[in-house]
Amino acid sequence: MNRSVYFDNNGTTALHPKVLQAMLPYLSEQQGNATSRHIFGRAARNAIDQAREQVAEAVGAHPSQVIFTSGGTESDNLAITGVANALGAGRIAVSRIEHPAVSRPAEALKWQGWKLDRIGSNRHGQVEKTSLETILENKTDMVSVMLANNETGVIQDVAVLGELARRHKAYMHTDAVQALGKIDVDFASLNIHAMSLSSHKINGPQGAGALILDKRIDIQPLLYGGGQEKGLRSGSENIAAIVGFGAACNLAATEARNRQSKLISLRTRLEQGIQKLDAIIFGAEAERLPNTSFFAFDGIEGETLVMALDKQGFAVASGSACSSDNTEPSHVLLAMGIHPDIARGAIRVSLGNNNEAQEVDAFLQALERELSRLRKLTAIAV
Ligand code: PLP
Repeated sequence: MNRSVYFDNNGTTALHPKVLQAMLPYLSEQQGNATSRHIFGRAARNAIDQAREQVAEAVGAHPSQVIFTSGGTESDNLAITGVANALGAGRIAVSRIEHPAVSRPAEALKWQGWKLDRIGSNRHGQVEKTSLETILENKTDMVSVMLANNETGVIQDVAVLGELARRHKAYMHTDAVQALGKIDVDFASLNIHAMSLSSHKINGPQGAGALILDKRIDIQPLLYGGGQEKGLRSGSENIAAIVGFGAACNLAATEARNRQSKLISLRTRLEQGIQKLDAIIFGAEAERLPNTSFFAFDGIEGETLVMALDKQGFAVASGSACSSDNTEPSHVLLAMGIHPDIARGAIRVSLGNNNEAQEVDAFLQALERELSRLRKLTAIAV
């Protein structure tokens, strides 16, 4: 059994015991395929329909707007590529701070003759309305801006950006993968046409997600086959995962207020501690997800600190993307205008509903020890 403290909840979350309970029958005695007409098939179909209602309810949408997918990545790809395929060639604008699940399919559209614009961010990690306004001076067909950033946790003003996009007759998508379960998410009030969700960020299982779609939007599937999910996502449904996703949405909705206040108090405790150690906290002046803290210490490499903390029993994430031969600083921090040397130092603590104040205190002690050790090593090296 791993005894480390888990502080990487924006990476993934532990399955909630109630979610597991809801899933178990569909991993054992309930073997039906939801397309079958017999009693087993009908039971599977009913389970999916109930999950569809739970997901829709969590984001203020109608069940008929929910398309189940294999997760956030597929939902983002369907939202971008599926709509692009229906439109033919055009122009897309995505923010510079998007997750690769959005930026990569947007880049890939260039091969289909699409033009790609990047919407800038300010130094607080907020996507800039003025940047989008300038981009929209050219006829733009699609805009995608995430609701909350996975690294900084900074919450974006999607309703305002969406309103702007709508006025310019552009289709608007938001990746709400990190926002769901941490802040209120209401599809109808965001001025968007499509929204991506993922189950495993909210104590649901991996391998399930959804695209919430305005029914007036013309969209082509990425997968063709048996025509499941109104023809938009063929393939036998992952029933247990979908049931788990529904149960996780239900729990998130009922526990939202308690979760938020607990996470905020833990994060405040953490940030008071790291400030005493001279941390640079990214996005601290913007409205952020209650659980996320992204920070760096001058002169200390993020990857090194993550490994050192891992050895001390704390699982946190670094803000860097590792490729085979080098470590790239976070594209989110670069978009915020942070110097690459500082950005290379970034580590992310993303708290979860299971974390406790004692864990934060123990982390701060380990962090202080490791920083002083690493600073001594750096001093010897120079
Ligand atoms: N979008 C954001 C903002 C994310 O943080 C993630 C996962 O980290 C994804 C999309 C991808 O979601 P999934 O892991 O369900 O494919």
